[in-house]
Amino acid sequence: MRRSAAALALDYDSSIEMSAAAALPNSQNPGIIHRMAPPTEVKAPGLVPDELKHEPRSKGIATARKKKPKELAVITECCTGCAGSPACVEYCPVEDCMFWVPDEDHPPFGRIQIDPLLCIGCKKCLSKGPNGCFLDGCPWDAIVMVETTEVEKEVGPMVY
Ligand code: SF4
Ligand code: SF4
Repeated sequence: MRRSAAALALDYDSSIEMSAAAALPNSQNPGIIHRMAPPTEVKAPGLVPDELKHEPRSKGIATARKKKPKELAVITECCTGCAGSPACVEYCPVEDCMFWVPDEDHPPFGRIQIDPLLCIGCKKCLSKGPNGCFLDGCPWDAIVMVETTEVEKEVGPMVY
């Protein structure tokens, strides 16, 4: 079926409008934005306020964990802080889960802490390999796995 020139012109004008609209910055193009804008990733909030977390911090997964782990990693009194160069942090795959807490009375010393709301219980920060041999993570056995229910007795119930 042949289409009238007017109908073709209308199609042409519409396609121009669509192209022009697609080229507009997001703020001027609200109708198309919702379909084209990439999803914004929100960083999972930790239990410890961000301003109390010093570098070095662990880097990696920034989204909230999917489910509450059965066990969480906890730093013990054995943590030496590795003289300011913590060996454990680089093994943790979760953003800001492990972080440095400076010892205000004895700079530049300090120790590493773990945010219980961000830990996924993967045990990558632990040192134990088969037969107790050292593989990676903390070489000083200063990190232990503790049942999440026990941790919650200290920090309160966690939502996820
Ligand atoms: S158990 Fe995994 S997520 Fe938790 S502190 Fe250790 S490396 Fe990080
Ligand atoms: S947990 Fe272990 S590796 Fe990490 S800073 Fe403390 S002593 Fe060093």
